Amino acid sequence: MSNIRAIRGMNDILPGETPYWQFLEQTVSRVLGSYGYAEVRLPVVEQTELFRRSIGEVTDIVEKEMYSFDDRNGESLTLRPEGTAGCVRAAMQHGLLNTVQRLWYAGPMFRYERPQKGRQRQFHQIGVESFGVASADMDAELIVLCARLWRELGIADSVQLQINSIGSPASRRAFRDALVHYLEQHVDALDADSQRRLHSNPLRILDSKNADTQALLDAAPALVDYLDDESRTDFAQLCDLLQAAGVPYVIDTRLVRGLDYYNKTVFEWVTQSLGAQGTVCAGGRYDGLVAQMGGRAVPAVGFAMGMERLVLLLRERGKPRAAAPAAHIYAVAAGRAAQRAALTAVETLRDELPQLVIVQHTGGGSLRSQMKKADKSGARVALIWGEEEVTSASVTVKRLREASGETAGAAQRRVPARELAATLCAEFADGQSDEG
Ligand code: ATP
Ligand code: MG
Repeated sequence: MSNIRAIRGMNDILPGETPYWQFLEQTVSRVLGSYGYAEVRLPVVEQTELFRRSIGEVTDIVEKEMYSFDDRNGESLTLRPEGTAGCVRAAMQHGLLNTVQRLWYAGPMFRYERPQKGRQRQFHQIGVESFGVASADMDAELIVLCARLWRELGIADSVQLQINSIGSPASRRAFRDALVHYLEQHVDALDADSQRRLHSNPLRILDSKNADTQALLDAAPALVDYLDDESRTDFAQLCDLLQAAGVPYVIDTRLVRGLDYYNKTVFEWVTQSLGAQGTVCAGGRYDGLVAQMGGRAVPAVGFAMGMERLVLLLRERGKPRAAAPAAHIYAVAAGRAAQRAALTAVETLRDELPQLVIVQHTGGGSLRSQMKKADKSGARVALIWGEEEVTSASVTVKRLREASGETAGAAQRRVPARELAATLCAEFADGQSDEG
């Protein structure tokens, strides 16, 4: 067993880190709920064909990042690399698309990539998808919702919004031809990846990280010059709504998606704080996907956030978020009868003071050794049951430290069992809940 370790790029999230995840999840769930979005929970494994058909053959994901395997019946299955495909599949399968739907989901995604800071092989996304509305007010709703989320997470200063319109599939085809024509004349100056993409997925060249390629693109045809009228009008409306809502944005005319079903609005929230893995949230309109998957045309727009990257931001810039206290109260008991009395009393306390963390000592030992554990636990109060407490139906309440965290003087008193809850209520009345 000694040399069995977690798979590369698939991380354990340990107790020191889970408070950040819980804070993120709780905030997201509350904010999305307040906009009328409903949560869906979808399988982690789908038919490989779903991703081939929706994401497309010539993308990084399908070409080289999927965890695919044959199950025992020889059917090819894949650990989901993203959530939109499964969400659309589920919405189609269960007939959810006859009306406007606002949906969200959260969970692990899997991509075979080179692990580094902010890039794992198992990572987590929160995805938000809206179906049935073709107009740009829905795009604006999603972006405004993101902005509120960043504020509530305390990271609004760390992220910047970039938007663009990639037009209709037809206008993009015209642009694509012009771009390929231009780049073919400078093939030798392109980086290797871009050369490979020149004929398979040339739009992806626009987000090449290579400086020479980027320089070459300065003189290349620009997507905005190829936009159809409707895309132009919708983009203008989106910009107007964002201004009205006070959400600052930068138009990045090279922001694209490699996937054919995307159209019109694309957006990303990026940060300078995470090095190369700067995109914490990416989204856009995909009016073509439902039809591409065999349904009738249903307009849609959505985005996905990378939870690991958001947690990194929360740790660096966000609200200081101390781990929940390991214990407010530590209960010790010496002897069988005392253990019985302690167990029942502590259960009653949990009914009456559910906001307090009460750790019951387990595993026996002398009162002295149990008190050492109590001290180490960080609890402010120890409750002690010994022989005398059992016979007099009372409990010893010992203050281990002040609310400030300083060590307390030897303040200790015996209280009748029936007064225990009231005593502790008074003891913790001074805002024990603001430790978080
Ligand atoms: P990147 O350019 O960083 O590879 P992407 O375009 O592949 O991102 P999307 O498919 O748009 O990413 O996924 C949405 C978000 O999910 C990303 O913006 C990022 O925050 C997060 N994400 C994507 N891949 C990973 C990964 N391997 N590890 C951690 N987070 C990821
Ligand atoms: Mg990627």
